[in-house]
Amino acid sequence: MDTEIQEHEVGTTRTPFGFCLKCTHELIAEGDGRCSECGLAFNPRSRRSYYAFQPGWMAKRFLAPPGVLWWLTFLFLSIYLMAASYAPGGFLIAEILGGFALVVAGGFYLLCLISSLLVHLRFGRIWWGARQLWWLVGPCIVLIGLLLIFLQFPIRVGFSYSRSAMEAQVALTAPGPPASRPAWLGLYPVRYDGNRPNLLLVRGAGFINSNGFVHLPNVEGTDYFEEGDLRAWRFDGDWFLAELQF
Ligand SMILES: [Zn+2]
Repeated sequence: MDTEIQEHEVGTTRTPFGFCLKCTHELIAEGDGRCSECGLAFNPRSRRSYYAFQPGWMAKRFLAPPGVLWWLTFLFLSIYLMAASYAPGGFLIAEILGGFALVVAGGFYLLCLISSLLVHLRFGRIWWGARQLWWLVGPCIVLIGLLLIFLQFPIRVGFSYSRSAMEAQVALTAPGPPASRPAWLGLYPVRYDGNRPNLLLVRGAGFINSNGFVHLPNVEGTDYFEEGDLRAWRFDGDWFLAELQF
């Protein structure tokens, strides 16, 4: 009888109490505190160091830390959106494509989050941990990217890089026909207006209207200028953001 109880007790300690965070192999309290399958360390007294229940397919997919590809996707999309925002009015097609891709990636993230939440409700506290927080890095990269766009960072960088080339063009007293002038000024593919030598329209920028930069050294005291189909908002010194209405 005694031996039977003893055996039963021994059997109890050999019963798996949890599952490895890395490979989800069964863990027993005996031994050196390392998973016998992959060697990951665990502490039977710390609920954060093991899964209390064997994670199912959803948990294996969505509770594991994301791969580098996850962050690279968001990083790439953020850079793409910033590149699409460096022109006045933005390169609309690129903005639509980048925005659409971000919505898809963000939707996937939301799916992961909801799945994790369901697993959390089903299995208790295995959801929370530093490992799962890595999923937030991707969306945080996007938020930083959107903040930089909101602060006009891309267009200011594009402008400051292209400024000297643009100023050299508008300083020409006899610019010649638009076809003979450079197709690119700094980072901008440019289209010229035969009637306004101080107007540099960016190819592909804007939506219905044509957008670009206009150099107005004689407009003082106001940050807004309107003349015919041209509308302009002061951007930097004598340079205005231009919109040519359709
Ligand atoms: Zn393991």
